[in-house]
Amino acid sequence: MSVADLLKLSLSGARLNPDDALNLLWRAALPEVAWAADKICSAKHPAPIRSYVIDRNVNYTNICVSGCRFCAFYRRPGDSGGYLLSTDQIVGKIQEAVDLGATQILMQGGLHPDLRIEYYEDLLNTIKSHFDVQIHSLSAPEIVYIARVSSLSILDTLSRLRSSGLDSLPGGGAEILVDKVRSRVSPNKCSADEWVEVMRLAGEIGMRATATMVFGMGEELADRIEHLDRIRSLQDDTNVFTAFIAWPFQPGNTKLKGSAAGAHEYLRMLAMSRIYLDNIDNIQASWVTQGPAVAQVAMRFGANDIGSTMIEENVVAATGVSHRMSEADLIDLIHSAGFDAAQRTTLYETIKLHKRREMIEQ
Ligand code: SF4
Repeated sequence: MSVADLLKLSLSGARLNPDDALNLLWRAALPEVAWAADKICSAKHPAPIRSYVIDRNVNYTNICVSGCRFCAFYRRPGDSGGYLLSTDQIVGKIQEAVDLGATQILMQGGLHPDLRIEYYEDLLNTIKSHFDVQIHSLSAPEIVYIARVSSLSILDTLSRLRSSGLDSLPGGGAEILVDKVRSRVSPNKCSADEWVEVMRLAGEIGMRATATMVFGMGEELADRIEHLDRIRSLQDDTNVFTAFIAWPFQPGNTKLKGSAAGAHEYLRMLAMSRIYLDNIDNIQASWVTQGPAVAQVAMRFGANDIGSTMIEENVVAATGVSHRMSEADLIDLIHSAGFDAAQRTTLYETIKLHKRREMIEQ
């Protein structure tokens, strides 16, 4: 099929199969995939609005037994520079975030060998007793590891954490859901099937989650499409995902090294995600890795959301990539891209709409 036919197919609402997607990824020019992704995005989100959420990342520990080769954040148990925040420190960070209007807390950390489920239950209960925030926390690899060190099933682990206040799961730890890639870049982390199983079970007990992809770690383009296909199939079965977020691997200070994918490759993958993932409503742009200028353009490559203010971010920052954006910056960025800006909840309900002032011709 020609590129034009593949684009026509995707705009008609028909699904691309993995071969079609690979074909498009190889052969389409960047403006072609951008055009299709923007059209599909506008059909799903006809109002000229792009959204964001106010949140804080709280990385409660950097101590981790996994040792992923793409990670610059972790320390092995016993290494200098390892930390575990106290509950008081975590509560203090959440208080600061709530004072700045945060509605979501994203707690993620390393796979700490001494933390069993009781630690997380106590922490979640404490947070919920102090704050009315969405606890969007603990990635699938953390859930699998907590289950393992606590001798529990994944279902029991999720159910107990949910009862203690865990509201929804971030999509971290997916990277590329192809085990031949995972065994090279993160051999000690949960398998692709385990990541999928955590999300499937989360959906079955009524939780929501996001899905992510980290690309550019030496995988084939076909691996990226296989990743998208696993996410799309799981969403067909569960409708667990509220959103999809992709970003390129950042090599600074990691064992994997290499060079980061540039804006062209990022925008192409973003557009492909919007085209392929026809059953996920929200596609986020990543200003944290791409910076504000590319994130602004991303709003015309299929992204209807610009993610969060990330009052604190440590994992990408550990690679030496550091962009900061206040809420006012995000609103300006959205406005100057030609959209109204909506502050949203984790579940994409609008909290506050910031209308764009009409541009005045000089
Ligand atoms: S990516 Fe997560 S699991 Fe892997 S080493 Fe870093 S903190 Fe540990």
